[in-house]
Amino acid sequence: MIPLARPVLGAEEERAVVEVLRSGRLSLGPRMEEFERLFAQRIGAPFASAVSSGTAGLHLALRAAGVGEGCEVVTSPFSFVASANAVVYENAIPVFADIDPVTLNLSPEAAAAAVGPRTAALLPVHIFGYPADLPAFETIAARDGLAIVEDACEALGAVHADGVKVGARGHPAVFAFYANKQLTTGEGGMVASCDGAIKERVDSERNQGRAVDMGWLEHDRLGFNYRLSEIACALGTAQLGRLDGMLADRAALAVRYREALAGIEGLRLPCPDRGGERRGWFVFVVQLPAGVDRDAVVGELARRGVQSKPYLPAIHLMSFYRERFGFREGQFPVCEQVAARSLALPFFPGMSEAQVERVAGALRGALAQREGRAAARR
Ligand SMILES: *Cc1c(COP(=O)(O)O)cnc(C)c1O
Repeated sequence: MIPLARPVLGAEEERAVVEVLRSGRLSLGPRMEEFERLFAQRIGAPFASAVSSGTAGLHLALRAAGVGEGCEVVTSPFSFVASANAVVYENAIPVFADIDPVTLNLSPEAAAAAVGPRTAALLPVHIFGYPADLPAFETIAARDGLAIVEDACEALGAVHADGVKVGARGHPAVFAFYANKQLTTGEGGMVASCDGAIKERVDSERNQGRAVDMGWLEHDRLGFNYRLSEIACALGTAQLGRLDGMLADRAALAVRYREALAGIEGLRLPCPDRGGERRGWFVFVVQLPAGVDRDAVVGELARRGVQSKPYLPAIHLMSFYRERFGFREGQFPVCEQVAARSLALPFFPGMSEAQVERVAGALRGALAQREGRAAARR
């Protein structure tokens, strides 16, 4: 079976982890500071705070941006559920707006129309590593006095049209290091920021509300345990050392996929980079031709040794969101159409050209088989 994702872990990672074990210092030590410093340097932001997951990072970034009970946060319904959940953690209200049909990112026009008197922040998601239109969101935020928090959990390596790397525009931006992301620490995340006060607040709240200069059992605010272990931070630093190579591998794979999947009628491939924008390649998600039974294609691909997954479901149509907030079908038609057709294919550094060919062949076969059945019915 060709898997959807597979991390790249080698001798450097093994050595880094063993060193931490031998040091006897497993939390809040020099590896965390080193990982934060090197990560901030890598994306061009002045500050970074390591946290236990991308979700934890989103939660703390939203708190730092002043999002609290009853506030509305305008965000994308086409995302991993964590971006909306983090809003709900604070008893704030996720207000969805539809997405751009090309980039699949939150549409600035739709977001602007969703802003109301209770809106506190915009939460754009750089979905599938494609940079969201931050200049447009910055204009809206400046006009309406809103904060911006970026969900950059899928976008390490992405670059905006003006050459600024995703995460370095000045808003808190959150990255994630789950095993399928561009860089992994097993579990983990990072809040990048350009404001020392935000760094200080996130550092305190990830550590039970302790200020840096306070004793272990003094707490001057509500906090959480969102710390990232020294083992994970050492792993992250080792991964940073090979990040350029891994990103280049993913980008090269995307080129191969485009060639291998060319000419399949009705199949939509990820959008190419526009102008100076650069995707940080994370997943290779296609949209199946309209009317195709996606579950049947997933089953047929599995029979041919290829893992695939519908990716992503629309958040507003999940039962919890329908029941708690009253969302219903038809509210965000672009998102719903994309969510109904999208399928993630295997995509990871080290995937061979032959494997890409096998996936493409299997997909062609699965789609042709369905065509054959449809023709037989006619
Ligand atoms: C992975 C991801 C997250 C959450 O990251 P975790 O580390 O799994 O908590 C949030 N948003 C998006 C868009 C993601 O892809």
